[in-house]
Amino acid sequence: MVSEFEVFYRAMASRDQRFDGRFVVAVTSTRVYCRPSCPSRTPRRENCRFFRLPAAAEGAGFRACRRCRPDTGPSLPEWNVRSDLVGRALRLIASGAGDKDGVAGVARRLVVSERHLHRQLVAGVGVGPQRLIISRRARMARMLIESTALPLADVAFAAGYASVRQFNDGMRTAFGCPPGELRSTRLEGPGSTDEGELVLRLRYRPPLASRLLLEWLAERALGGVEVVADGRYHRTMRLPHGWGQVAAEFDGAQDGQAGVTVRLALADLRDVTVAVGRCREIFDLDADPVTIGDDLGSDPVVGPLARARPGLRVPGCADGFELAVRAVLGQQVSVAAARTFGTRLVSGFGEPLKNAGMRALPLTRLFPTPDALAAADLVSIGLTKRRATTLRALAEAVCTGGLMLDRGAEREDCVSALLALPGVGPWTAGYIAMRALGDPDVFPHNDLGLLEAARWQGVADNPRALRDHAMRWRPWRSYAAMHLWASLPPRSPRSRHTAKAPASA
Ligand SMILES: [Zn+2]
Repeated sequence: MVSEFEVFYRAMASRDQRFDGRFVVAVTSTRVYCRPSCPSRTPRRENCRFFRLPAAAEGAGFRACRRCRPDTGPSLPEWNVRSDLVGRALRLIASGAGDKDGVAGVARRLVVSERHLHRQLVAGVGVGPQRLIISRRARMARMLIESTALPLADVAFAAGYASVRQFNDGMRTAFGCPPGELRSTRLEGPGSTDEGELVLRLRYRPPLASRLLLEWLAERALGGVEVVADGRYHRTMRLPHGWGQVAAEFDGAQDGQAGVTVRLALADLRDVTVAVGRCREIFDLDADPVTIGDDLGSDPVVGPLARARPGLRVPGCADGFELAVRAVLGQQVSVAAARTFGTRLVSGFGEPLKNAGMRALPLTRLFPTPDALAAADLVSIGLTKRRATTLRALAEAVCTGGLMLDRGAEREDCVSALLALPGVGPWTAGYIAMRALGDPDVFPHNDLGLLEAARWQGVADNPRALRDHAMRWRPWRSYAAMHLWASLPPRSPRSRHTAKAPASA
């Protein structure tokens, strides 16, 4: 049997970019760590050490290579598949959860002790939570230094450092030089605009089916909160310290690196990490489309669909509660009807956005909070009593903390808690797990659109048969569902997501 070391060493020697993000190689003679595809000379075996995460290499005293920049790029896709504590912790830290309340906050959120969290992470990825948070902060700071004109003191503040001194120390530890030097090696980037917006490039693994992603978002865009125009996606966001607005443009590769250009207008700079994390989730930028395509590619039904639409993503969301509300509004009605109700909900109960950036756009409100919806007269916007009851119960469950709808959620517990709400059945809970919790392996088998696609493909003609058939698409059933939905003719009478709610709804 070939050892893990040997597998990594051979992968590195091949310089295949597909291994980037799966591990990094640290070289003991130079104390620098690289991507597997680094164009530098292949180091000798005895000088190599392999780490699963850049943070682990930094924790062991290695610095990021300036040539191949192993500290940038999408996160390890494996952790999005795993539903264990390590996977949940990594997703939470990646979404910025450690920035505000530190390790204690992350441990509290996962309902484990800090010690247990530390032990599990060290055993799983070779690095503890504190180092992961520090490393993430340093990376965000570097991104801001290199691609914006923000003064360094503002960068320190935005990235979450308590003081400029801590910032200087942190940057020296991670990159081996003071922050000012990173600015002098500044990459060609779009920078920041006159309006005080930040412009950042978010990298992903190609391919990415951006046209289909934008179409999906446009079809569902809620008036006042979202708009797709000129090939860009714009939306408002409620962030920990205030409002935010984002505009994202899929402008393909620059300098050979696939990326999305994101413009951010923020009420408070400290929200930049969270805002970037949410953008990554909305566009599913941490997915590994080559692996997903390879795995689904051999299937006689989904294989041809996957080849026809390479890089199809499962869109996530900007906020788990918002997505859950939208899922309930989408029960048993068309996408267009769900959008109408959603827009009414926003204009009736969403917080008006005054003096916010990107004024030229019709972005006027933030999506309503759980508190606002728990107290709202929802029948007044034309919802049935039953649906209003479901939304109120959902809002109350989120207000009381009984329901957490983010990527740190324990997926099975969360689905059980959702199913316990009046009017929430397997379709709604599954759809929320797919898009709010980021579960890549959900299949809403009683969805009318999926059933229609399955019949058309000749694989199943009832929900139970479809559920059984879908087992062969594990662990990528969410992507298989996206491919089946995308295979439906656009004007199909029971178009995509015309979901049939369960009998309990
Ligand atoms: Zn390198």
